[in-house]
Amino acid sequence: MNRLATLFSSSSGNCTLICNDDTNILIDAGVSASRITAALREFELDICEIDGIVVTHEHTDHIKAVGALSRKYNIPVYANAPTMTEIIASVGDLHDRNICITQCGKSFDIRSINIVPFSIPHDAVEPMGYTVDLGSSRVSVATDTGHITKSMLVNMSKSDTVLIESNHDVEMVKNGKYPYMLKKRILSDNGHLSNENAAWLATQLALWGTKKIILGHLSEHNNIPEKAYETAEKKLCENNIKPNSDVILKVASKSQPCMV
Ligand SMILES: [Zn+2]
Ligand SMILES: [Zn+2]
Repeated sequence: MNRLATLFSSSSGNCTLICNDDTNILIDAGVSASRITAALREFELDICEIDGIVVTHEHTDHIKAVGALSRKYNIPVYANAPTMTEIIASVGDLHDRNICITQCGKSFDIRSINIVPFSIPHDAVEPMGYTVDLGSSRVSVATDTGHITKSMLVNMSKSDTVLIESNHDVEMVKNGKYPYMLKKRILSDNGHLSNENAAWLATQLALWGTKKIILGHLSEHNNIPEKAYETAEKKLCENNIKPNSDVILKVASKSQPCMV
């Protein structure tokens, strides 16, 4: 069965499971190895059945368990060269056979799944989003995106299912307690995507045929799930798209699996 499920999704840790009948991959592994292993059991999957960990970028909330999982369970790690250097510097050496270097725009296979990495705007060395062809369906993942680029739209269009970032409510960031420089970073073009921008992206993708949308990577201090959902719901309705009739719209939980 084709599946996209967030296992963990927030500013404090991200891990997404993507599967078809014979291949299981993780996009990022940003919480502890034991929590990921336990979450996979809810899908009746053993960590040894994971065929690869595909990394979006080197921030800790995306790579925390990459080293431990790869070394202990012999799992290949896929990332572009600058990101791989940062991953190894942060989580320790990986076995040579598990270092799989990818390139932006160049598709690669993990067993029967084909993956296309594309560039996303974020303050990391070479951050990537991914479009994943599962055979009979196509899913895209793009979290940690300061703004929406044409390349993102082109790559994510025609996806049946998408996981996009709905990080913050702009007013909550502006009025919140974060230091000025951190607020500036979050709101910058290379920071994180606001609820408003996520709503626009969700609507655009839905107009192009996307049927299932997960809003993820919510900030714990600058967002609430209801705000993220209602902002996207409003924008979809303004464009005559009915959530949970024309499209399935869900907000990923910080620490409970969410699937569509
Ligand atoms: Zn992140
Ligand atoms: Zn990040």
